[in-house]
Amino acid sequence: MGLRKIVEQGDDCLTKVCRPVTDFNARLHTLLDDMMETLQEAGGAGLAAPQVGVLRRTCIVMDEDTEEYMELVNPEIVAQEGEQTGPEGCLSIPGKWGLVTRPAWVRVRAQDRDGNWFEAEGEGLTARCFCHELEHLDGHMYTEHIDHFLTDEELEEYFGEDENA
Ligand code: ZN
Repeated sequence: MGLRKIVEQGDDCLTKVCRPVTDFNARLHTLLDDMMETLQEAGGAGLAAPQVGVLRRTCIVMDEDTEEYMELVNPEIVAQEGEQTGPEGCLSIPGKWGLVTRPAWVRVRAQDRDGNWFEAEGEGLTARCFCHELEHLDGHMYTEHIDHFLTDEELEEYFGEDENA
């Protein structure tokens, strides 16, 4: 177990379509344990395997309501509704934010670390995070949806001065 290095935008790993996970073995469990440790250390809401240089379809997403992390293996979006526009950031693009429009509610189907299928759903930040992390597995990033990174003034408007202190 241990921290893994988070690759930044410009790294080839972030532009590749990841392969499905087929072996639910100790190696996958170690990867997920390491990703969890790396994500918690970074204080992020989500992390996808390609962000630690592994081109496999797995990611971790925080449930905004429970503040618990979900491990998603081979996830896919099976339903979505509505629309929300808000600031979004990425651990692979440190310190930057952009406005992205996403579905307001999303349901995903995925496997757990032992291969069991389950469904999970979320709205707000959780829905945003599902979309953001799943996009990483196809080599896409949120910057493809924005026309500029938010300025300091815009950030203050969205997050308030308290959060920046
Ligand atoms: Zn990201």
